[in-house]
Amino acid sequence: MECYYCKGDLQEGVVPYFVKRKGYQIVIDRVPAYICSQCGEYMFREKEVDLIQEIISLLEQKIAMIIPENLNHAYICNDSSDIPIHHAL
Ligand SMILES: [Zn+2]
Repeated sequence: MECYYCKGDLQEGVVPYFVKRKGYQIVIDRVPAYICSQCGEYMFREKEVDLIQEIISLLEQKIAMIIPENLNHAYICNDSSDIPIHHAL
């Protein structure tokens, strides 16, 4: 396979996947992908694209239950460290 952008060789590897949606973000550390050895562009395989779309649509439904409708009026914690689940009680 060759790169869509520069026609360089695509090689199998892993890349991080990042998506930012309203009210949440998802980072998956290592997703298999085809990576261009020339320009560094990458393409995900159909299987992973389908799985990621499933994850997002599931999360989308659940996240709607916990995120207040009006985010502007909600207290937003800026501390990025993990909060243990038992502290949430
Ligand atoms: Zn390329």
